[in-house]
Amino acid sequence: MSHLLRQLIPLPCILCEQNQINSSGFCEPCLNDLPWLTKACPYCAIPWRLHRDSLGCPSPRHSIDRCTAVFEYTFPLPQLMMQFKQQAFLAAGRALAVCLAQAISTYPASIEALVPIPSSRRALRRRGYNPALEISRTVGQILKIPVVDHWLGVSDAKRDQKHLPRADRLRPKDNSFHAKRPCKATHLVIIDDVMTTLSTINQVARLFKAQGVQQVDAWAVCRTLPPPPRPT
Ligand SMILES: [Zn+2]
Ligand SMILES: [Zn+2]
Repeated sequence: MSHLLRQLIPLPCILCEQNQINSSGFCEPCLNDLPWLTKACPYCAIPWRLHRDSLGCPSPRHSIDRCTAVFEYTFPLPQLMMQFKQQAFLAAGRALAVCLAQAISTYPASIEALVPIPSSRRALRRRGYNPALEISRTVGQILKIPVVDHWLGVSDAKRDQKHLPRADRLRPKDNSFHAKRPCKATHLVIIDDVMTTLSTINQVARLFKAQGVQQVDAWAVCRTLPPPPRPT
C-alpha cells in the first residue's frame, strides 16, 4: 500500500510544503490539524452537534441510503478544493481522495462500483477534468472498487449550480441528469467532492433506484455545515 501511495502522491506535504508526507499527501501535523468530520449522522453526514432532527436530516425524503464525508468544509478545505477544482492542482485532489479511502477503509463487500457525479460538457471544457472522477479513480484504486462513469449523462445548463442562490440549488431539477444506459447493479456508491444540499446526489440516487438498484450510498471528501442551532 505505501509503495502505491508513494507513486500516487508527490513529496513534500501539499499544505506546509516543508515536512515529508506520511501515507496521505499531508505531513503528520497538517493531517492532524485538518477538520475531520467525526460523530456525524449516517444519513446526511451532518455532525451530531449541528444536527436538527426536524430540519437538518433529509433522510426520510431522499433516496440515498448512507452518507459519508471525511472533512467539515472549513479551513483549509475550501482553499484546497479551489486549488484542486479551479487551478488544476491535482495533487490536492489526490491527497484528499487518499484521506477518503483511508477513512472508509472497511466497506460492505456488496458495493459493485463507484459512480462519480458527472461534470457538464461546459465544465469539462473549462477544467479539462472531472474532479469527482479524479477522486473516484484514486479511491477505487486504493479500495479496489471499479469506477463506472458511463451510466450517467448531464445536461449542460444545470450542473454548474455554484453561482445560484441556495434556494435555487435546493429546488429539485429533475432533468439535470439522465441514465445513458441500463444499470444492473444492486449496490452503488456515488462520489462527489463536496456535499452541500444533497439535492444533486439525491437526484442521481433516485435515477438508480428507479432502475432497480437496491442500495445507493454517497461518499464525499467534504460536507458543508449548517449554522449552529439557536439557543432555546
Ligand atoms: Zn504539512
Ligand atoms: Zn441526518
